[in-house]
Amino acid sequence: MESSRVTRRSFLGASGAALAAGALPRGAFASLPSPADADCIAVSSANGIGAVATARAAVLERRLRPVSAAVQGVAQVEADPKDTSVGYGGLPNEDGVIQLDSACMDGPRHNAGAVGSLEGIMHPAQVAECVMDRTDHVLLVGPGAKRFALEQGFIEQDLSTETSRKAWREWQATRKEDDRLWPLNGADPDAPWTLDEKRPWGTIHCSVLAPNGDLGCCTTTSGLAWKIPGRVGDSPLIGCGLYCDNTVGSAGATGRGEAAILSGGSWLIVERMRMGDDPTEACLHALRRVSEQAQRAAAWQPALWAKDKPGFGLTFYAVRKDGLFGSATMIGRRGGPKFSVADAGGARHEECAILYELPA
Ligand code: ASP
Repeated sequence: MESSRVTRRSFLGASGAALAAGALPRGAFASLPSPADADCIAVSSANGIGAVATARAAVLERRLRPVSAAVQGVAQVEADPKDTSVGYGGLPNEDGVIQLDSACMDGPRHNAGAVGSLEGIMHPAQVAECVMDRTDHVLLVGPGAKRFALEQGFIEQDLSTETSRKAWREWQATRKEDDRLWPLNGADPDAPWTLDEKRPWGTIHCSVLAPNGDLGCCTTTSGLAWKIPGRVGDSPLIGCGLYCDNTVGSAGATGRGEAAILSGGSWLIVERMRMGDDPTEACLHALRRVSEQAQRAAAWQPALWAKDKPGFGLTFYAVRKDGLFGSATMIGRRGGPKFSVADAGGARHEECAILYELPA
């Protein structure tokens, strides 16, 4: 599976083309950190079509560093009440409280900031950026994260909407007694790939490559709907829901956060790209690893492995320092799952590679 390429790719040259085709020996990439040719590339989850356009413009027109461009890009999704997976209007936890997780990572300084279980602040990614820039810490959680946000001048707001409150009330009314093991809330194990809809996830990840080859990324979410209060997913965990290394590339995840945590998925993808994988192949490699792990975990929770495939969704996104980018998802029908990208060719959706393809 070959990754998508930027339109302007004179930088690839003979050695880059060989690299894209996987012809170079493993480990060769470390000596070929060719930056993209004066282009900026932003990659995100499907819900980030506006975010990638904003992030690219932020780099090219406002000269923002890639990590700040990613944070600016996702801000519009955090503020969008119609996206029930992120920020304002996000689906709440068991108690009906919206708790947000977010992180950002800056390639050039190899630094990161993150917040977990943050309540009442619409833009957790911006708080994460403050943690990164204004403290020596990486992760603040719960009341400490909120106190820090207020100190930094963020305004406390009610993040619930009529839609999110109604969805929570409906879940409460139909809630099964023991819904904390997989499949959550007793969803139909014969239809494992629809579990996400019964206990919805949703997140936005955005990775940005600047024309000078610098990288940055951000992931932000309200996390798994109806989660146990205090549950932190992969999104604010460096190496899980996002990771970047300025010499190699950037990656992130959306979907079952526990699987991205248990595999160190985003870190694994960056390391695979360091060894020479193109971004799509690196994402597929991480999904294969997750799939093997799910098979073992099913000895404990059988529905994690159903009908010869994992019983959950997970999608990875990646961009490599030389401008290749790609995405792969665990399960789907061809032509279904998409990711967003903005480059010199504009902002658009492209198809994710699929590890387990369902019949059309
Ligand atoms: N990964 C997020 C979490 O587990 C949710 C998602 O991406 O849908 O919190």
